[in-house]
Amino acid sequence: MILDGKQIAQTIRGELRAEVEALKAAGKRAPKLAVVIVGHNPASETYVANKLKACAEVGIEAEKIAYPQEITEQTLLTEVHRLNSDPSIDGFIVQLPLPEHINELTILSAIDYRKDVDGLTPENVGRTVQGLPSIVSATPRGIRELLARYAIPTEGKHVVVIGRSNIVGKPIAMLLMQRPYLSLPGMSAASLGDATVTVCHSKTQDLKSICLTADIIIVAAGCPNLLTAEMVRPGTTVIDVGINRIDDPSSPRGYRLVGDVDFEHVAPIAAAITPVPGGVGPMTIVSLLQNTLQAYNQHND
Ligand code: NAD
Repeated sequence: MILDGKQIAQTIRGELRAEVEALKAAGKRAPKLAVVIVGHNPASETYVANKLKACAEVGIEAEKIAYPQEITEQTLLTEVHRLNSDPSIDGFIVQLPLPEHINELTILSAIDYRKDVDGLTPENVGRTVQGLPSIVSATPRGIRELLARYAIPTEGKHVVVIGRSNIVGKPIAMLLMQRPYLSLPGMSAASLGDATVTVCHSKTQDLKSICLTADIIIVAAGCPNLLTAEMVRPGTTVIDVGINRIDDPSSPRGYRLVGDVDFEHVAPIAAAITPVPGGVGPMTIVSLLQNTLQAYNQHND
């Protein structure tokens, strides 16, 4: 089975649009997201454009705040503080990466965790670890939602996560191992989380043997063809987070996007698998919209 993230994301956008319309029909203002971008990184500009477009599609207001590459850390901090205290902004993100002269952790730590719709502040991460209500970062939230919408249970399952980054590997491992406290549509709270999780990384020995004991493999390494067919036992669910550009002279762009999984050979063995593109990527963007609505609802409780 192909786990169609594009289709599920479209369904969720429809649900979000209806929620925002209901708010407006009740005389309330629409939720509002601000996106701060520094400099001219082409990949970041594409991501930001996609986020703004996704907001427009569901009726969430969005404001892009662009700063030149040379902005000082202090000026950016002042902007973060302004956004923290602006009551018309429900959530905001500072698009990463930032220029080298700006300390990312300093900036992230200054964001009010209640407006941190990227879920990257130390406070939100700590709250997630402790099982407290928090804003979960977009990609892990999207993966969890995709599993939930396809009713793939994690309780008691062995989940192998390949990659230990702060934005994907660590938080998805944390979410799936913890006792469930949040319920999502389509799945009872008891079915989410409660997995036995193994986290692998670049220094892990004998990745193949570990993967062969998995019920669910989540790959977020940024390495094309890292997960091959002989590492996957029949019936495994495979979530491919990787986005890698590889040269392809036959494509008009000169490249194509692939994940971290040898999709052609793994798909026939897997019980369920996400494609790249069209799997985790669309879920990540829609999760940002869900996080913005979550922040709005928390402010307006
Ligand atoms: P990162 O580059 O910060 O970290 C990669 C991780 O993979 C590291 O922890 C490293 O130890 C591990 N790793 C690398 N090579 C390995 C190997 N050969 N064996 C085992 N482990 C290995 O990663 P990231 O920011 O989490 O991104 C990972 C991939 O996911 C990238 O391709 C990125 O573009 C993609 N990504 C996709 C989305 C999405 O929405 N689909 C979101 C975020 C990241």
